[in-house]
Amino acid sequence: MVKYQQKCMKCRKNYVLVSSRQRYAICYECQKQELKGKIKDPKMKKMFDIPEEFYMKNSFLRDIKIKYLQFGELTEKQIEAFKKTVKKMKEEQKSI
Ligand SMILES: [Zn+2]
Repeated sequence: MVKYQQKCMKCRKNYVLVSSRQRYAICYECQKQELKGKIKDPKMKKMFDIPEEFYMKNSFLRDIKIKYLQFGELTEKQIEAFKKTVKKMKEEQKSI
């Protein structure tokens, strides 16, 4: 997947690493507050319980979490993509 740096659409200050599939980018600093909602579903809570660093690095993970906090649900595809991304990041961490 092609990834590139894009200026945050909100603060126009920080750069965000985005994939070509994403249409917009907002940096971690601007989304920090939105990421702080409470998750009641224990299954989802477990899924979103990943190192904060992952949310800092990956705008896709932030998007999914914010979507869930907003709508209270996710599609199977979104859940799958989230898990896949986390797994990949964990593997990358191990290989360093
Ligand atoms: Zn920003």
